[in-house]
Amino acid sequence: MLKADAYGIGAAPVGRALRAAGVRTFFVALAEEGAALREALGPGPAIHVLGGMMDGDAPLVTAHDLVPCLNSADQVRAFLAACPGRPAALQLDSGMNRLGLEAADLDALADVLPALAPVLVMSHLACADAPGHPLNAAQRAAFGAAAARFPGARLSLAATGGVLLGPDFHLDLVRPGIGLYGGLPFAGARPAVTLELPVIQVRDVAPGEAVGYGAGWTATRPSRIATLSAGYADGLLRALGGAGVTLWAGDTPVPMVGRVSMDLITADVTDLPAVPPALAILNARQGVDALAAAAGTIGYEVLTGLGPRYERVYHGGP
Ligand SMILES: *Cc1c(COP(=O)(O)O)cnc(C)c1O
Repeated sequence: MLKADAYGIGAAPVGRALRAAGVRTFFVALAEEGAALREALGPGPAIHVLGGMMDGDAPLVTAHDLVPCLNSADQVRAFLAACPGRPAALQLDSGMNRLGLEAADLDALADVLPALAPVLVMSHLACADAPGHPLNAAQRAAFGAAAARFPGARLSLAATGGVLLGPDFHLDLVRPGIGLYGGLPFAGARPAVTLELPVIQVRDVAPGEAVGYGAGWTATRPSRIATLSAGYADGLLRALGGAGVTLWAGDTPVPMVGRVSMDLITADVTDLPAVPPALAILNARQGVDALAAAAGTIGYEVLTGLGPRYERVYHGGP
């Protein structure tokens, strides 16, 4: 799953690494993302578009060999009119009520479905991160029943959470996203992202002096405060200010202090013997879910929020 620029990490390098690892089927949310991914991957791998076919997508679908995951009767008819003979996928609703065709839609399309002959039939689980939730089994059963209408298609139901629900949910192909990028619900995921923030300046602050907007933090001892180059415009959510977040100088924790500004944050480096050129906010000790918990959100939102101003360095891959 490479939607939203591979969850903010970079769809082109991540896609190339996954292709080198053997992945042959990719998913994005929008046709524009699919076109960009096709440029990065070249011909060969299947690129599926979860949004299906929206107005104006037909030229992109044709030019970049994309497979829309059609999700309404209108999309099916529009696709057959604009892209006859091209491969398509069908997205079924099995209980999430967000995107996808229901049984009544399939009945209404009975005249055109043979011409469509979808290469892939998929659905999405609403509660896969809660293994005991009864909706998982209900959606599995509903999907199995609806998919039986398409004996020639590959079937797909599982994202990261569904992969962890076990083989009954795996079917022909799975669509993991967050688990590849180091996040829950894959508790065993290895961290995929390290984020280091350059120190722009270090200053001495006397007891009683305050730091940052709103004078949100006040020194209680002679302090050294480092100002780092990243802020909420870079996805360091403003809610992290005052949430007790830690930055890291190698293995040494350094408290973040004061509010998060648009381009800057501040950290109390008083106890460091020497201030390194950068402090980490994501590393092996503090992953996206830890940062997300401090801000009251989920790892997906932290990752996809990391802005375009960071220099991205990729390790491994082709
Ligand atoms: C985002 C998404 C996925 C991947 O979900 P993760 O939880 O990140 O693994 C899979 N399928 C669909 C339809 C999605 O929207």
